[in-house]
Amino acid sequence: MAYGTTPARTPAERIELLPSLPFILMHVAAVGAAIAFPPSAGDLALLLGLYYFRMWAVVVGFHRYLSHRSFQTSRWFQLALVFLGTTAMQKGGLWWGANHRHHHRYSDQPEDVHSPVQRGFFWSHMGWIMSAKWHATRYGDIKDMAKFPELVFLNEHYFLPPVLLSLALLGGGFALGGVHGAIHAFVWGFVVSTVVLWHGTFTINSLSHVFGRRRFKTTDDSRNSAILSLVTLGEGWHNNHHYFPGSMAQGFYWWQIDLAAYTVRGLEKLGLVWNVRAPPERVLKLGRGIVTGEEPQTEAPRFADPIASA
Ligand SMILES: [Zn+2]
Ligand SMILES: [Zn+2]
Repeated sequence: MAYGTTPARTPAERIELLPSLPFILMHVAAVGAAIAFPPSAGDLALLLGLYYFRMWAVVVGFHRYLSHRSFQTSRWFQLALVFLGTTAMQKGGLWWGANHRHHHRYSDQPEDVHSPVQRGFFWSHMGWIMSAKWHATRYGDIKDMAKFPELVFLNEHYFLPPVLLSLALLGGGFALGGVHGAIHAFVWGFVVSTVVLWHGTFTINSLSHVFGRRRFKTTDDSRNSAILSLVTLGEGWHNNHHYFPGSMAQGFYWWQIDLAAYTVRGLEKLGLVWNVRAPPERVLKLGRGIVTGEEPQTEAPRFADPIASA
């Protein structure tokens, strides 16, 4: 368990301050506004509600669906999931998913987009987002989803959903409490909530390859953490996930709480999603220590079953 020291960066890997200005200013705005407009209990509920709702959309929409295709759904529900995920202001879903697939392919190797083992905490947490190297969407890594023009549109116009969410908060807050209500709803429901949500999401890249227990002998340094699973609705079972990334659930056993997985099972009962993929018995037994042996890390998931055939 160790962080790597940051090696000399190539020019493309330098932190770019100007393009990162919106990202930096959101942090300044969140701290300033939180001090200037102290929260009520309702503001804190809004903060938590929009944190967890958008965390859910990122986890289920961007990660378990777009990146890993761990279940199938209809074209309209796919669009809804990606739209909701985009309100988290983590750029476009295709950008997110393509980088994430790259992470699985090169996990903790020198090519890894955000390996804390290779490049230290800061780079893995947020430095990579602020560098030119990972600005563009690597469409070649997510061809299967990039064939849907509506998803490409959202990916290219990723500011639209957060702007619409902001307008909804301003309008709703104004309707309930005038100008004061509008400011508080926007500050706590969007500005502060988004910054906290960023860092909640980033922990999976920066912490879960360093802290926690290794149940499976993967070729990387991924780990399982119950605490990070509560912060991220189940993504903290990251060692499980790296061993068998095709599984929708990342908590493989009943005691591994995975709230996002329970909701997807609920959506399956409602008929909104189907073909939800689970780890085979062989993998579950291996994780329980019932069978032993070093199995190779499961390769990147199959992307051969596009939604159109569902
Ligand atoms: Zn990882
Ligand atoms: Zn993944």
